[in-house]
Amino acid sequence: MSILLSLDQGTTSSRAIVFDRFGTVLGSAQKEFQQYFPKPGWVEHDPQEIWSSQLQVAREAIAKAGIKLSQIAALGIANQRETTVVWDRFTGEPIYNAIVWQDRRTSDRCSELNQNHFEDKVKRKTGLTLDPYFCATKIEWILDHVSNARSRSENDELLFGTVDSWLMWNLTGGAIHATDVTNASRTMLWNLEKQEWDSELLERFRIPEAMMPRVSPSSSAFGKTAKELFGESIMIGGVAGDQQAALLGQNCNRPGLAKNTYGTGCFALMNIGDELVHSQSRLLTTAVCGGNGMGGFALEGSVFCGGSAVQWLRDGLGIIETAAEIETLASSVDDTGGVYVVPAFTGLGAPTWDPYARGTIVGITRGTSRAHIARATLEGIAFQVMDVLEAMIKETGTPLGELRVDGGAASNDLLMQIQADLLATSVVRSKLTEATAFGAAFLAGLTSNIWSSPEELYGIQEVDRIFEPQGNQILISERKETWALALQKSLGWDKAR
Ligand code: ADP
Repeated sequence: MSILLSLDQGTTSSRAIVFDRFGTVLGSAQKEFQQYFPKPGWVEHDPQEIWSSQLQVAREAIAKAGIKLSQIAALGIANQRETTVVWDRFTGEPIYNAIVWQDRRTSDRCSELNQNHFEDKVKRKTGLTLDPYFCATKIEWILDHVSNARSRSENDELLFGTVDSWLMWNLTGGAIHATDVTNASRTMLWNLEKQEWDSELLERFRIPEAMMPRVSPSSSAFGKTAKELFGESIMIGGVAGDQQAALLGQNCNRPGLAKNTYGTGCFALMNIGDELVHSQSRLLTTAVCGGNGMGGFALEGSVFCGGSAVQWLRDGLGIIETAAEIETLASSVDDTGGVYVVPAFTGLGAPTWDPYARGTIVGITRGTSRAHIARATLEGIAFQVMDVLEAMIKETGTPLGELRVDGGAASNDLLMQIQADLLATSVVRSKLTEATAFGAAFLAGLTSNIWSSPEELYGIQEVDRIFEPQGNQILISERKETWALALQKSLGWDKAR
């Protein structure tokens, strides 16, 4: 009974990993699912496909691990955050596709709302900026645009959930409608200080409180899976938004420790301890995993387009066949030949926060090759992460001792080296590349008494590689200045047309 099943429901794929108590992966499975882009700036998923792909990989991972179901102590869920699902509480049918965190359809609504210092209020209450990224305006959009949705919500027929809630609802056969504090803190409806759904914000968005899930600490017994799904029920013992799960999985349990995850987007979080700090430089304040001696807050900066820029080179431009190929291509040139790629495909997140920014390539000459574009794309990812971390350092007044990294694109050595050079800080990649999934497993393991305290994580982490800063810092400073100019070019583009 010391094995844990982790469900890592990401933006582009559903994954399941079976871990033992040492963090060893016993079995894993992954399935990509369809991304829908109905209009420019809109991004949707089919909630049923999220669920079916997640269930399929969970079963596959268990089968590959070759274990008996009775050996699984509990399961943990880490999920793409903010992605918004609204479903019928009686039939379990979603009333609209999941509106994905990257979706910008409510940009104008957010601008309209930002009157009479409403953004200051949102920030004070939720720690977030008033941005389409979060759930509130997405829920509002669904209620306003799906026929009869408003009246159905008022008649208590509808439920809202982030992807963790949606998965738990399905895993328990509709028995529980719950979420954890980290996911709640991304809705723009959760009062961080009072630790409750904020009635004033709910009213402002006309969202009935009855639609909202019950909020529990991240490490707690949420419920049990329906018996027919796996043959026996499994306790759901841990739930966290993917970035907070990674913060825990990277062992950033103490104030001052920071990690960046390079997935579809890039997410840098720095643990700031128990004191609720409101950022002056447009970073977010967010809840970290709670329960079992954990809790408190983190500063966060999200880069909306990270690894997805690499996907665009693969699927949009077709200049690479696999994501990993970008490293060989980008390494075939010594520099970008003066090209800068600002991958603002879905606007810019922290610290710029411009929903109207769009992707921009500057400095193209007749000599520019696909290799230069590939290298500039990797640099564009690293420059954005640098901007976020430099804002955090400024905010906290604490230099970064090191940056802990994970996520799909962290396997790219060139990208990691570029990052270390730009930050002039060591970049530490753990052997446990699945920090997000392991964070969720760890939460479930704390609930099921496999571990007794977060301190036990120290014995589990092992370093894979440390990237030390290299290169000429004067040249790097010049490039940082040119990057700032390139970034300027991308701002407000969607509004300018
Ligand atoms: P998510 O959890 O957001 O779905 P992952 O952590 O699985 O993301 O990372 C997938 C992302 O990483 C994709 O956008 C992919 O393009 C990118 N990626 C994967 N391998 C590499 C690589 N070797 N170099 C650069 N990017 C990569």
